Amino acid sequence: MTPDLCSTHLRILECTGCSQPVWAEPVGPRVTLHCGYCGLDDARELSSLVAPAQTEDAYRGSRGSRRSRKVELDLTRPPEGVSKRPTIDQLRALLATERKHLAELDADADERIASEHRIVYCSAVASNAYRTTHDHLRARAVLESALETVRAPAYRALVLVRLARLAAFEDAPDLAERWIAAMPELRVAELDTDVRVARAALARSRGDRKGVIALLGTETSCVGASRTVAMALRVDALEQLGDLREARRVYRRGSRGNAFAFGAAMGAFELAPRTRKRTATVGILALGIVVLAFLAFGLALHGNPLAAIVLIVFALGGAVFVKTM
Ligand SMILES: [Zn+2]
Repeated sequence: MTPDLCSTHLRILECTGCSQPVWAEPVGPRVTLHCGYCGLDDARELSSLVAPAQTEDAYRGSRGSRRSRKVELDLTRPPEGVSKRPTIDQLRALLATERKHLAELDADADERIASEHRIVYCSAVASNAYRTTHDHLRARAVLESALETVRAPAYRALVLVRLARLAAFEDAPDLAERWIAAMPELRVAELDTDVRVARAALARSRGDRKGVIALLGTETSCVGASRTVAMALRVDALEQLGDLREARRVYRRGSRGNAFAFGAAMGAFELAPRTRKRTATVGILALGIVVLAFLAFGLALHGNPLAAIVLIVFALGGAVFVKTM
């Protein structure tokens, strides 16, 4: 049995016993979860989904804290002890250790912020990894569990905006709006791109392609961990609007530096299928042209200039064909 991922009432979390997804409709602030994997019955008190008003301390640690502790919001660089490309198993182990560690800390402990950052980072990366394998249920459960674990308003905002993006890509606009409405009002630059990406994904689910581009803003204004998805959404919207030339240009720009991550993001969210297909075809043809050029060079060296010329003509013809694609 699988839950309705579009429901605005269901809460989908990870079992505290075995980390498998569990779900139920809450009654007031409480939810009673039964795990079909390990049999655990768990009654939990949920955090409020009413957005807190903007406060002086919102960018810092837990509200009411007297100390000033800056919150690390950068999700592009892994925290200490987390590898650059962790596997799902490594992420699960890190999350289990960090959740246990956080539960043992005092509500006002200085260590909480670093611990919450590690949980948010690992949960966001795990959610993306699950989404890549089309495991939409676990992609959601790991984020909702993070939401129920961290307290710093800025970290809750980071998790809520990821949940909103996920819902928008699942074609669940009402659910996406619910997550966005629960976000605390924060004027934090690092969160801005995340919010724009979630709203652009929402516009896409409603078929508003021009709205996607308008909401994303300029290319250079998209920064941080969500820049890749922002570029991918832009390519998709341009392709849908029929501007294939501009879609290809943005694709090339988005691929710069990390073509693998960009291709993975496009594939995970099933964006711009035509541009992706064309890029793969061009790659194969370009490889063929290089092979032909090498063959021609070899034939010329071995005293067969006529065959070499024929191959060069083929290679040039191929190059012109690729250019016009
Ligand atoms: Zn369980």
